[in-house]
Amino acid sequence: MQAEAAQHRPMAGIVWKDEAPLDRLNTMGLPSVARTLAVVSDVRGLREFLRWAAAAGEDFEILGEGSNVILADPYYEQTFLQLGGDFALSSVRGKALFAGAAAPLAHLVSQSCDAGLSGLEGGWGIPGTLGGAICGNAGTLEWSIADSLLWAEVFDRSGKMQRLRADEIRFGYRNSSLDGMVITRARLALKLERPEAIARNLAAARERRIRQPRGRSAGCIFKNPPGDFAGRLIEAAGLKGYRCGGAVVSHNHANFIVNEGGATGRDVVNLIDIVQRRVQETFNIRLDVEVRILHSIKRRCS
Ligand SMILES: Cc1cc2nc3c(=O)[nH]c(=O)nc-3n(C[C@H](O)[C@H](O)[C@H](O)COP(=O)(O)OP(=O)(O)OC[C@H]3O[C@@H](n4cnc5c(N)ncnc54)[C@H](O)[C@@H]3O)c2cc1C
Repeated sequence: MQAEAAQHRPMAGIVWKDEAPLDRLNTMGLPSVARTLAVVSDVRGLREFLRWAAAAGEDFEILGEGSNVILADPYYEQTFLQLGGDFALSSVRGKALFAGAAAPLAHLVSQSCDAGLSGLEGGWGIPGTLGGAICGNAGTLEWSIADSLLWAEVFDRSGKMQRLRADEIRFGYRNSSLDGMVITRARLALKLERPEAIARNLAAARERRIRQPRGRSAGCIFKNPPGDFAGRLIEAAGLKGYRCGGAVVSHNHANFIVNEGGATGRDVVNLIDIVQRRVQETFNIRLDVEVRILHSIKRRCS
């Protein structure tokens, strides 16, 4: 079945990589390999990819910059889909920003600010792509990407394309109803602003990042429980600096786990379990995970 699926792969607009190392495709630098990685560069390629995946019964995982995922397993049977090429393009038109889902959020922040447009400054310092940001409604305490979104174009797994207005999408705390769909493009609504005001907003966003750990991480591991902060609870439970292999609860910000060298996905998952258990025992509060923990399909089915 696998060999047959490989034989019938469409080629236009897609670069296929077999036994693809994922170490550089996740910001934690966790070592892992995907049986297949497909990098799709245009809409035609994406349609072909989706047709192929449906016909071959291939499960696939969508990957942006891998800044919010924990690759828990050393090997993935499922295909990884990454967007590139045309999907990384963006342009300012009037007071709107049109961007492909593979465009880095950092680039969109500077592109809009350089054009005198305000709205995305809160995203300064958030790694990842626009697609990843929309899928997880990335943001801060004060701002999230949903605040700026006018519409998003998405493909479902059968290949059907839809343009959804922001009010047709459900956005929550670091999640959206687009999970599992392929986001390809979006329009962000911004407003004209004086350069000094934009500079002030950027400085405030930079200020908020000062305590952020510098090492390899996936951002905040846990969601803040209502009325409290996950980092505060983890620190109060005495877990700053706690380690599993190369994975360590950051000394700077206890809601970050950093790869201090040689960490595996298993180390990170074990550390997450320990933190959850310790916080539950100490404060009777359940910490929900904010990052996406990815498992190989074999493990998922077992
Ligand atoms: C140092 C650091 C700081 C961070 N700070 C913040 C912060 O302040 N606020 C915050 O919200 N996050 C933060 N994060 C987490 C992360 O940067 C965001 O969640 C980011 O939006 C993820 O984008 P990505 O492209 O890396 O997505 P990935 O990590 O690759 O994927 C995340 C999820 O999005 C899905 N996805 C990705 N692209 C698409 C697409 N085109 N279509 C459909 N689904 C897609 C994936 O399938 C996956 O489920 C931080 C991370 C780091 C490392």
